[in-house]
Amino acid sequence: AKKAVLGPLVGAVDQGTSSTRFLVFNSKTAELLSHHQVEIKQEFPREGWVEQDPKEILQSVYECIEKTCEKLGQLNIDISNIKAIGVSNQRETTVVWDKLTGEPLYNAVVWLDLRTQSTVENLSKRIPGNNNFVKSKTGLPLSTYFSAVKLRWLLDNVRTVQKAVEENRALFGTIDSWLIWSLTGGINGGVHCTDVTNASRTMLFNIHSLEWDKELCEFFGIPKEILPNVRSSSEIYGLMKAGALEGVPISGCLGDQSAALVGQMCFQDGQAKNTYGTGCFLLCNTGRKCVFSEHGLLTTVAYKLGRDKPVYYALEGSVAIAGAVIRWLRDNLGIIKSSEEIEKLAKEVGTSYGCYFVPAFSGLYAPYWEPSARGIICGLTQFTNKCHIAFAALEAVCFQTREILDAMNRDCGIPLSHLQVDGGMTSNKILMQLQADILYIPVVKPSMPETTALGAAMAAGAAEGVGVWSLEPEDLSAVTMERFEPQINAEESEIRYSTWKKAVMKSIGWVT
Ligand code: ADP
Repeated sequence: AKKAVLGPLVGAVDQGTSSTRFLVFNSKTAELLSHHQVEIKQEFPREGWVEQDPKEILQSVYECIEKTCEKLGQLNIDISNIKAIGVSNQRETTVVWDKLTGEPLYNAVVWLDLRTQSTVENLSKRIPGNNNFVKSKTGLPLSTYFSAVKLRWLLDNVRTVQKAVEENRALFGTIDSWLIWSLTGGINGGVHCTDVTNASRTMLFNIHSLEWDKELCEFFGIPKEILPNVRSSSEIYGLMKAGALEGVPISGCLGDQSAALVGQMCFQDGQAKNTYGTGCFLLCNTGRKCVFSEHGLLTTVAYKLGRDKPVYYALEGSVAIAGAVIRWLRDNLGIIKSSEEIEKLAKEVGTSYGCYFVPAFSGLYAPYWEPSARGIICGLTQFTNKCHIAFAALEAVCFQTREILDAMNRDCGIPLSHLQVDGGMTSNKILMQLQADILYIPVVKPSMPETTALGAAMAAGAAEGVGVWSLEPEDLSAVTMERFEPQINAEESEIRYSTWKKAVMKSIGWVT
């Protein structure tokens, strides 16, 4: 077998809403050497509720690490070359567990979950001072999306959580905290921490002072003792306590969208990327200033790559449902057997034939923030078939991106000249071409689509005390780009877009 010449290696856990992956990169070239992926179950116990099992998530991480190490062994690559591990994760998803037993006290409440709608309504009536109280500190609108309201719901509704808090046994965390605590030893000395990017999505974190905010904790009624320590995105948090990689430092942690921004090397003011996973998230680096949106975008922490390094901020356009609509066509309607099959159906017709699909399953996020919206499929005729609906589902992802890109351009003043993309859906070539047509700018995709994992690996490799990744562009020599140029004319693209907006208006106000 060929013995590759290798630099130090870095691993990354990418714990997403749909799946968990572990990937190992060569730190000298960013070449992906091996990986393993496991799909994660989503439970929908009631209408609007979305849960996952924290133990299944943790188990999937161990399984991915073990399988990837086996694959490296088969490639004759010595796993002792792995010098660090980064963690990137689905954001906002909320876990509370018992620090004495290590057992979760409830399922993870997933970011998409809508059970907190009445919690949000009650809270919004009590906002102290002006309406800007939460937004000005956190960069976020009061919404079901963020962790604080999910945690409030757990404290109000789950007796085991209440009891554990009273007895000082409860720990709160987003998925990064749950994983790092567990991987570094759990009940035997696990480290309870999070990074600034994940903290900035809880709605308890002051994005200016970079600390848990006392007034916000009081407003949401959250005891500070259960919150993790907030660290930078790139430093040694602790060592792997078990498994094939025992003793390797965990030294990078970023929410998935921040990780993708880093993995796409968007380090300059004005650089942006859009990630197509379960949802769609467009982030634009605004440098060291916090920019507040006039058009429904969020202000969030982009990254802080080291204890003594400055913090960078981003404007974010968040779309709740993107890839999830494809999964819905697979699991709920059964018109496809795998997500990849959607491309075949869409290709058969090459048009939605006037059918529009607004997948507002969890209300609408940016730029509308309309919890009252629900999904609709409209413009149907007797001619419409499943291929048209498949096409409309892909188009919906592109239209939603167009809406957040328009908002971003208005907030930033300078329109983006092209769009850098990544995420699970970008392997779909029809989607990529449609996106270029609907935005009317080129769409640029890296040959290696795992930029989220790459970003987490880069942060881990660059940490003080690890120092195997320099974050310079030449370290990414294995990554090449593919471009999709707009092919339809701008007028046609505008007509389709304005009909989409009409459809969106019809989706709003379904629930009151
Ligand atoms: P996440 O990070 O949210 O877990 P991923 O980036 O792994 O998501 O992307 C998975 C999502 O992309 C799933 O919702 C899946 O349905 C969708 N998807 C995967 N492959 C394709 C494809 N070829 N065409 C369209 N959608 C796809």
